[in-house]
Amino acid sequence: MTGIPHRWYNVIPDLSRPLPPPRDPEELGAESRIELLPRLFPDALIDQEQTSERWVEIPTEVFDAYRTLGRPTPLVRLKRLERVLGTRARIYAKREDVNPTGSHKPNTAVAQAYYARQEGVKKLVTETGAGQWGSAVALASAVMGLRCTVFMTRSSYLTKPYRRTLMLSFGAEVVSSPSERTEIGRRFLASDPNHPGSLGIAISEGVETVLSEESTKYAVGSVMNFTILHQTVIGLEAMRQMEEEGVEPDVIIGCVGGGSNFGGIALPFIGSRLRGEGYERTRIIGVESKGAPRMTTGRYDYEFVDSAGYLPRLKMYNLGKDFLPPTIHAAGLRYHGLSPIVSLLLREHLIEARSYQQEEAFAAALKLTRVEGLLPAPETAHAVSAVLEEAERYRRTNEEGVILLCFSGHGLLDLQSYERFLPSE
Ligand SMILES: *Cc1c(COP(=O)(O)O)cnc(C)c1O
Repeated sequence: MTGIPHRWYNVIPDLSRPLPPPRDPEELGAESRIELLPRLFPDALIDQEQTSERWVEIPTEVFDAYRTLGRPTPLVRLKRLERVLGTRARIYAKREDVNPTGSHKPNTAVAQAYYARQEGVKKLVTETGAGQWGSAVALASAVMGLRCTVFMTRSSYLTKPYRRTLMLSFGAEVVSSPSERTEIGRRFLASDPNHPGSLGIAISEGVETVLSEESTKYAVGSVMNFTILHQTVIGLEAMRQMEEEGVEPDVIIGCVGGGSNFGGIALPFIGSRLRGEGYERTRIIGVESKGAPRMTTGRYDYEFVDSAGYLPRLKMYNLGKDFLPPTIHAAGLRYHGLSPIVSLLLREHLIEARSYQQEEAFAAALKLTRVEGLLPAPETAHAVSAVLEEAERYRRTNEEGVILLCFSGHGLLDLQSYERFLPSE
């Protein structure tokens, strides 16, 4: 009995409406992006993307890697925060920051690396902005014995040296993007030798690399169904841990970039509700940045996954693939779209959405840090804002309640951002 589940949970068969499938571009003669997917991803993941099985077995080797990397993660009650807020709500945090890269992202990276290696793949390629996803893939590749190349947007490559060092330490190769390696990279460099890069360009360079090399596959950090599937390990553990504490969450809160940590913690609870097995009254709140407000202001429509249009179009809340977010500090919350599963849940009013300014988010995070000693990642800080708002509601009504926060990551490699938002005392 370790407390790590042996199966991931797939919500798709429990949804009241079928999930809208991916679509190809509308232009006549455009290359099929859907047919490209099997060249980019291992077969096992393509199967998981569309499986109607409710439970998917976690392979033993992935289970073992989860264990050595820190699973099950602790569920901790933040009593000191409760006290300073003067609330009768109990606040629990599911600590996804306690692993070697400091976020929930290795939960899917390790699984993707495992399936790739099972199919004879020798190298994983991916893109990264601030470096959270790149370091998770570098870690997973090390653990599963694969080589790894990370295209890192040039602006981050220059300004975030520590994540690059972390990836290099895991044995990955880190390439500043745009690069001379690929045709698309050379094209952007020709137009501007100091091009700052973008996630769209880094993805395009990665895809081009995968398509031109043998035994190489792509790793994707969020949005796709299989990434959310792997992240349900968070919610399955949390559900069992709360049962052991003898409590049920009244409110579940997570931040939403592509939707993977939020879906990961929330879906097991939503699934129970959809099957009529409990959690009928639990409110589930997804939190985004006001800098990229897809859930609160976006449209629910088909849009490309990536700004370069290499991958299929998905039905999701989005701001358009060419949306240029302001340079907010929570890089993980800048994405133009979000998971089709999370989008459908929002459409069906099974979840609520909220957005905050980053100033509010950092202020909320510091309030927590100064009594609990945990420093949330800038993304997580947005979810902390919602926790404070809910705790305040319980204080005003003098009601009891239980709040469950997905503490998606720590901010120890985001100290530059914190420096900007520390109050001047
Ligand atoms: C990447 C990241 C996010 C956003 O991604 P999701 O797929 O929405 O979970 C949130 N928190 C942290 C710490 C991250 O690294």
